[in-house]
Amino acid sequence: MLLRGTAVAVSLIAGAALTLNLTSGEAVAPRTDENPSNSQTIGMAPISIGNPAIASALAWLDAGRPSVTGSATPQTAPKSTDTYLKAFRVKAGDTLSHILDRAGADSQTADEAIRALKRIFSPRDLKAGQTINVAYTPTLSSDGTDRFTGFQIPLDYATRVHVAPAPEGGFRAYEIELPLQTRQVRAEGTITNSLFSAGSDAGVPPSVMAELVRAFSWDVDFQRDIQKNDRFEVMFDQKVDEAGRPVHDGRIVYASLTLSGDRKPIYLHQLADGRWDYFDDKGQGAKKALMRTPIDGARLSSHFGNRKHPILGYTKKHTGTDFAAPTGTPIYAAGDGVVESAGWNGGYGKYVSIRHNSEYSTGYAHMSGINRGIAKGKRVRQGDIIGFVGTTGQSTGPHLHYEVVRLGAKMNPMRVKMPSGEKLSGKELVRFEGSRNNLNAKWASLAGKGKRLAQN
Ligand SMILES: [Zn+2]
Repeated sequence: MLLRGTAVAVSLIAGAALTLNLTSGEAVAPRTDENPSNSQTIGMAPISIGNPAIASALAWLDAGRPSVTGSATPQTAPKSTDTYLKAFRVKAGDTLSHILDRAGADSQTADEAIRALKRIFSPRDLKAGQTINVAYTPTLSSDGTDRFTGFQIPLDYATRVHVAPAPEGGFRAYEIELPLQTRQVRAEGTITNSLFSAGSDAGVPPSVMAELVRAFSWDVDFQRDIQKNDRFEVMFDQKVDEAGRPVHDGRIVYASLTLSGDRKPIYLHQLADGRWDYFDDKGQGAKKALMRTPIDGARLSSHFGNRKHPILGYTKKHTGTDFAAPTGTPIYAAGDGVVESAGWNGGYGKYVSIRHNSEYSTGYAHMSGINRGIAKGKRVRQGDIIGFVGTTGQSTGPHLHYEVVRLGAKMNPMRVKMPSGEKLSGKELVRFEGSRNNLNAKWASLAGKGKRLAQN
């Protein structure tokens, strides 16, 4: 556990368990695997604080992700003096003042708590649907109302903000980093229907499958290349809380696709310069670069950007880069991909566009001719000749007008930050081979655990 932005040292030692009663209709159950009724007693992770002076005030600090311990009935439980939490959901248009009012805090105390919160978190950043766990300390008053003693707001799977009574009076806010651990999860399967359904059958979260598709998208056309009985393997990081419950699925560290018998593995590797990227077993980057100049012996004749249009006469953004070259000069596919369109396209004249993956596509205009066999749906490799320089459409002379489109936006081909497509060598290759061997060993160590998802 780590407290940020405060001088308070907190250590994890065994302490008193806390109880959360969820009884009001407004209360929401935290993430649990079972939900037997809307009235349950929930055991908290035991924790105590290194500094005894604030221990009592912060004793409920780690009570954010409770686990269901049974279907005990709070109505019959003896009155405890332990601080407990009640969950309130932020409604659309809600303010924290309103929520604390609903939670039974008097306005002065609520104001003090909110003031403390604002030092590290703006209540305006609360979103509808978010949960606020309000803390109460039981009192001996006969009307049964317990004392409001702060609240906690989960920010994400790893951090929470706590507002708790300060030893000197009033409230103090703390940002808490939860003590999470990372483990690796192994999953594999055979594709019978689709890659996603095979992943789902193997228990792989959709976010991880989407990441897998992204990582392989430079090399694999998921519309066409996947056949029945192809196989996948994936090993990914997972964050777990102290009780071993998964709270977040992280990045893929190893994956492999075996497509029509051809096995394509990728390994996550951190380069000496600090970047993380995927490489195949020989150290070739999984991302492939697009050619910035998909033509030989050409002269860059017009840059991307605003210019006076040579034919239309008015200033207009030039959405590509022009390369002047003699008519008939071959034009190459800038990267592996699938032809999206090939044919006449208005001012673009004879035009080809290629989709490289879900992120990138490229366009080639004013061709004198499109190469034989280049048609919509045709798979091309980087460097394949797709057509020839010409001056068809709105064009003043033979040139290639080349466009790079990333996520639907036309980019400057000379400036767009393209994947490196790098091949590791020398010391970097030796370091990579170390990472690769470690990941292979890790994968093997997770084999045959007899669970749907092997974990460690
Ligand atoms: Zn142009």
